[in-house]
Amino acid sequence: MKTIDEPRLRDIVGENNIKSDPSDLYVYGSDSSVHQSMPWVVVRPETTEQVQKIMQYANAEIIPVVTRGGGSGMCGQAVPAEGGIILDMKRMNKILEINMPDVYCRVEPGVVDDDLNLALKPYGVFYPPTPASSRIATIGGEIGNNASGVRSVKYGATRDAVMGMKVVLPNGDLVSMGAHTRVEASGYQLHKLMVGSEGTLGVVVEAILRFVPIPEYRCLGIANFDSLKDAGEAVGAIMGSGANPSMLELVDSVAIQAVNKTMNLGLPEVAAALMFEADGMVKEAVDYEIHKMEALCKKCRGKDIQYSYDPKERAKIFMGRKKLFPALSKYDDSLASTSLADDMAVPYSKMADLAGKIHEVAKKNNIIMTAYGHCGSGCMHTKILMDTDRQDQWDSARKAITEIYEFVHSVNGTTSAEHGIGLSKAEAFKAEKADSIALMSMIKKGIDPNNILNPGKLMQAPDNWVTATDLRYSVHT
Ligand SMILES: Cc1cc2nc3c(=O)[nH]c(=O)nc-3n(C[C@H](O)[C@H](O)[C@H](O)COP(=O)(O)OP(=O)(O)OC[C@H]3O[C@@H](n4cnc5c(N)ncnc54)[C@H](O)[C@@H]3O)c2cc1C
Repeated sequence: MKTIDEPRLRDIVGENNIKSDPSDLYVYGSDSSVHQSMPWVVVRPETTEQVQKIMQYANAEIIPVVTRGGGSGMCGQAVPAEGGIILDMKRMNKILEINMPDVYCRVEPGVVDDDLNLALKPYGVFYPPTPASSRIATIGGEIGNNASGVRSVKYGATRDAVMGMKVVLPNGDLVSMGAHTRVEASGYQLHKLMVGSEGTLGVVVEAILRFVPIPEYRCLGIANFDSLKDAGEAVGAIMGSGANPSMLELVDSVAIQAVNKTMNLGLPEVAAALMFEADGMVKEAVDYEIHKMEALCKKCRGKDIQYSYDPKERAKIFMGRKKLFPALSKYDDSLASTSLADDMAVPYSKMADLAGKIHEVAKKNNIIMTAYGHCGSGCMHTKILMDTDRQDQWDSARKAITEIYEFVHSVNGTTSAEHGIGLSKAEAFKAEKADSIALMSMIKKGIDPNNILNPGKLMQAPDNWVTATDLRYSVHT
């Protein structure tokens, strides 16, 4: 551990915006993943100039810097694997401009997603990538992870919504990337490179984001299926039909049982349920989309189909999906819900096979796993319910994950649809991107020659994540 020049950092951000108390460091040492590693100091800048000065200091002294938004990343992206400075961006939370005629807004990176949408609402527009963590996730963190959400099937992920940005490079230089225009064909699209780079290339200090009109009509439907195969077939049928769902979500039997057990929802305990939504400005157009999806679900043996435009009814239909996270946490008091192989994407035709594979390896390895996700985007989430104190459970989880990733890669899928790589998925990421890891490393070296920004992540992360980095749990053999 290097000595930190706290007085110098205090001069930059002020007395109250630097933390080095062990309890603060402990809190900033983890995010929503299984990982834990203590930073040396936490610094909370309020301006771009402050960020530049911090980076100049860190670069000269070769001190790691980990940029942090809401800390809701699920793979350890904001965990300081090699210690150093945590750059907490939450004080940079101003909405700088909402420009209706030019259809963009400019924001600082610490703006929380829900706060942005609250500010946009009076203008009749919304910022669509919106992950389920929108109450805590910041725009900077969403850019870092290329976050997406239930409506990304229609409106795209963060990368689709970012038009440009200002970035502080590791040496403290400020660079503008992208444009204020919808199209741009000049040179490398550096702002798109920043999206998904997990804080390894620069610190985003401002973003230009596009928004879309809030639809007049929304209709949400649900269909139950007696087999995962039928539900998977329905997903492919809908996506291949030219239908334009604004949401297409799958939940499996384990997920349904979990919400029934912990929330008393009384949902039919079928093999899978598919939630399908259409939205738009013209009711007849929304009707058309919903009826099309309903017919395709029926054709694939979907049953108990219902749908509604009514917000209260829609909320009821969506309740099982909405409450899934807390339900899984409460499923069994002796088991923790962990994010490990938590978000793969596979071609539509392989979704049911992946869900089946998840169940098969969970059973084989004596852990509980569920399969659910934004299947309209090809995205499948899992949670592993396990006793995190027991080494044998970690060993089982590891075996299960390895087998699941092998399957994902065998069907040309990807390790991460939206939650990113961080530490948890580094091993699988390196296998998946074997062809391009060298090129990515060259880009990293060119931009960050001293390797100070979020070192030890992505292609630099150790393969054996269970032992090579500290876990937040005390594991007994
Ligand atoms: C309950 C729950 C539900 C979730 N649901 C979803 C979901 O539906 N979809 C989804 O995509 N994700 C989801 N996530 C994961 C996570 O919330 C998102 O990926 C989110 O975008 C992370 O935002 P954050 O501000 O918390 O970022 P952090 O976790 O703080 O950081 C994430 C990464 O971004 C980098 N970063 C942060 N700020 C900056 C900046 N200013 N400049 C450069 N890099 C920066 C960090 O270094 C880190 O690598 C969920 C998480 C939870 C806990």
